[in-house]
Amino acid sequence: MAATTQIPCRQLFINGEWREPIKKKRIPIINPTTEEIIGDIPAATPEDVDVAVEAARKALVRNGGKDWSAASGAHRAKYLRAIAAKITERKSQLAKLESLDSGKPLDETVWDIDDVAGCFEYYADLAEGLDKKQKSPITLPMETFKCHVLREPIGVVGLITPWNYPLLMATWKVAPALAAGCAAILKPSELASITCLELADVCKEVGLPPGVLNILTGYGAEAGAPLSSHPHVDKVAFTGSNATGSKIMTAAAQVVKPVSLELGGKSPIVVFEDVDLDKAAEWTLFGCFWTNGQICSATSRLIVHCILKLSLSPSSSSLPPYVVIKDISSFIAAKFLDKLVQCCKNIKISDPLEEGCRLGPVVSSGQYEKILKFIATAKSEGASILCGGERPRHLKKGYFVEPTIISDVTTSMQIWKEEVFGPVLCVKTFANEEEAIELANDSQYALGSAVLSNDLDRCDRMSRAFHSGIVWVNCSQPCFSQAPWGGKKRSGFGRDLGEWGLENYINVKQVTQYTSNEPW
Ligand code: NAD
Repeated sequence: MAATTQIPCRQLFINGEWREPIKKKRIPIINPTTEEIIGDIPAATPEDVDVAVEAARKALVRNGGKDWSAASGAHRAKYLRAIAAKITERKSQLAKLESLDSGKPLDETVWDIDDVAGCFEYYADLAEGLDKKQKSPITLPMETFKCHVLREPIGVVGLITPWNYPLLMATWKVAPALAAGCAAILKPSELASITCLELADVCKEVGLPPGVLNILTGYGAEAGAPLSSHPHVDKVAFTGSNATGSKIMTAAAQVVKPVSLELGGKSPIVVFEDVDLDKAAEWTLFGCFWTNGQICSATSRLIVHCILKLSLSPSSSSLPPYVVIKDISSFIAAKFLDKLVQCCKNIKISDPLEEGCRLGPVVSSGQYEKILKFIATAKSEGASILCGGERPRHLKKGYFVEPTIISDVTTSMQIWKEEVFGPVLCVKTFANEEEAIELANDSQYALGSAVLSNDLDRCDRMSRAFHSGIVWVNCSQPCFSQAPWGGKKRSGFGRDLGEWGLENYINVKQVTQYTSNEPW
């Protein structure tokens, strides 16, 4: 199937046109399944960033702003809906391109593209809602003054995004930014940009006004960094690693511009003894191995109840009452881990375009090496590999890593503390709720947390006790355009999605009027 999917050859998208990068540089696209070069993308440099920023600034003020920034939300919503419709029309092509570029199983990328269209639709609705919120009156304690609040687009925004959900992560920022009336420059990851360039093609097709969305592919240092520090970019919204987030924050601080940062995670999933083990195993594996384990919110630390189920000897017995362990498998943790290991053996690892694929290759050779090094370090620190830990034997090429479960982990080990961003689950056990909470919150990150239990009061207590910005109860990872997404601690600040995602791109302006004829 890969051979039949054409990789379009694109240029940078600036001011509504395709433009060759000024320095004419290009970056090869490597298919992570075959390790072959399947095309290339343009590489923007600071000179291209300058041109794109100028185009975006002009887009904001063209026709007195009436074309975009000062137009009604309803006007902008029409474009967002048109983009959503075109994305849906191209769903099959976009999903295949995403799988080829990133290695994600096709079933998952089809799902992602549906979410992309849904997210544009959702922000079209919110753009329309903005029209009603314009000029919101505020009641003041003095009658001689009248006050209202205007909601205005922040201006030109730089949107820098990662490779794990290439088009979806871009959409989480592009859709609300455009809904708010901003003009944007999107810089996707050099490791997976194909579908973002197809978004440019879609924008061209729907006739989005020139300069409203500019898409610059390229390396972080050459295209992302100049965007972050550009004096005419009013805000930077970033999703990616902590190291890059920190650089972006530093660069933005030099020109005092706001940033929002969606960074990494090391999220816990707490499994209590009262769960249905089959369902719990499904959520645990999905929560960690979906997207080939490359999810910022992956619940990659399994914290599982370990209790002995004890039974007293029958009272009729002539022997004195004594305690017997009925069955060694009544250790919930042991039983559960055994089930997880069995399930891992059934996960289909293959070319992501192959039917039924559940785990494809990770995105790049660098990522592959990094994951194997994490596993080697865990072993050298004394952890045990319950399953996986290597390249699957039946696949000779491609950046494939087996689904891996690691036990005998201590809280001082690297595997417990650092984000792997690959299909690796580490396990610790707990004896009571307090210990579970302590372990769950034992992280520099705080993006997501999951709890699986049939006791909903307990789930509620856990939800309040988790430090993270997102909590899943009896599930892991579901994500909706309507609900806020983002973390605390080193997982960043600001929220994508929902109405909070729109606020990221809006300034509120206070207008106060003196209404009395009397002198002040
Ligand atoms: P990354 O930080 O390497 O790259 C992200 C983007 O930043 C890319 O477009 C890259 O080119 C750009 N970049 C790199 N250096 C830059 C610089 N100096 N200035 C400006 N831009 C620069 O991250 P990645 O490897 O693409 O993505 C993986 C990371 O993203 C993981 O840590 C993951 O947890 C995180 N992530 C977080 C979320 C979330 O919602 N919190 C979602 C997805 C991914």
